[in-house]
Amino acid sequence: MSEAALREQICLLAKSLFDRRLTHGSTGNISARTEDGGLLVSPTGTSFGRLDPARLSRFDASGRLISGDKPTKEMPLHSAFYDTRSTAGAVVHLHSCHSVAMSMLPDVDEDNFLPPLTPYALMKLGKVKLLPFFLPGDPAMGEAVRGLAGKRTAVMLANHGPVVAGKDVEAACNAVEELEETAKLAMLLRGTQARALTAEQIQAVVTEFNVEWDV
Ligand code: ZN
Repeated sequence: MSEAALREQICLLAKSLFDRRLTHGSTGNISARTEDGGLLVSPTGTSFGRLDPARLSRFDASGRLISGDKPTKEMPLHSAFYDTRSTAGAVVHLHSCHSVAMSMLPDVDEDNFLPPLTPYALMKLGKVKLLPFFLPGDPAMGEAVRGLAGKRTAVMLANHGPVVAGKDVEAACNAVEELEETAKLAMLLRGTQARALTAEQIQAVVTEFNVEWDV
């Protein structure tokens, strides 16, 4: 994809997320690999509803900012995914309501944050790791992601929001939507005797779709 098309795609999909209230105000950030090994990143303090393709922060392959506005302060989070997952072509971070709400519940599984409710969540996200609370922009967030050694494609920052990597912008956006929708289902079903996928059904999905699950 040309850089011009990639810039347009980032802004279009970010606006789509914003328009559906998957992130709000000036929250959320998004980045994508360019063909020359550099990065395009949403600037700090910008709204997903109004990203300007011409003003995205542009890094070269050596990680130097070469044009555009100042990048998001959560840059260490994005770099951590690119540095540890060779398949990552894009990273998206949202402040999405249901997943943030769920991160505050006392009984969630830190190693496997989302309950196994639907096959698509397993296929697109694998196991989502719940990370502790960090101050916004704290480089320790990036270190926590590096500590996972590239084994997870999605993490949930407690009391903050999800961060998901994908092979490209579309895949990363689809996956983070899956995370939020699954958290929404989990919140809707909380306190009920809902039937989640059985261990056998989970294994069948994992095998059929080569899900990174035993990590
Ligand atoms: Zn954030």
